[in-house]
Amino acid sequence: MSTSAPLPPESTDLVPDAGDSVTSRLIEANRSYAAGFTDPGMDARPVLKVAVVSCMDARIDLHAALGLELGDCHTIRNAGGVVTDDIIRSLTISQRALGTRSVVLIHHTGCGLLNLTEDFRHELELEVGQRPSWAVEAFHDLDQDVRQSIERVRTSPFLLHTDDVRGFVFDVSTGLLREVQPRG
Ligand SMILES: [Zn+2]
Repeated sequence: MSTSAPLPPESTDLVPDAGDSVTSRLIEANRSYAAGFTDPGMDARPVLKVAVVSCMDARIDLHAALGLELGDCHTIRNAGGVVTDDIIRSLTISQRALGTRSVVLIHHTGCGLLNLTEDFRHELELEVGQRPSWAVEAFHDLDQDVRQSIERVRTSPFLLHTDDVRGFVFDVSTGLLREVQPRG
């Protein structure tokens, strides 16, 4: 007998292609989703006119944590929830083409970026022989980085609405948001 036991028969249809099992599983889940899906007939413009910028962290379920429904908001995510040029690009399109007015920024406890430094970029360059054009945007102080993100949104010349911009730290162990006050 081999040490790698064959899959029990009932799970083989969940993993249609063992060579690419995660993606295959997602595709399978999508078939079930689509089977029960009815076209909500929604407009692309978010109902609540809000864009939420958050870390990509797998523990943050933005819709559940903020009581959001399908169609309510734009969710824009990257490593750290840092306001980079590409986040500004998305926010600009969100506001100017799709009518959002409010911005909510979310960082969180236990973020992977808290353990990194800009050395990451240097080490990457040494390893692959090419310096990335992007900054790592690592940080040690969550509140300070939220404040910086608020400032980057508020001072962007591309955005139409910068009066309702608020920043928070999401606690991954309690599920609670804590607001960070911007610089006075
Ligand atoms: Zn994070």
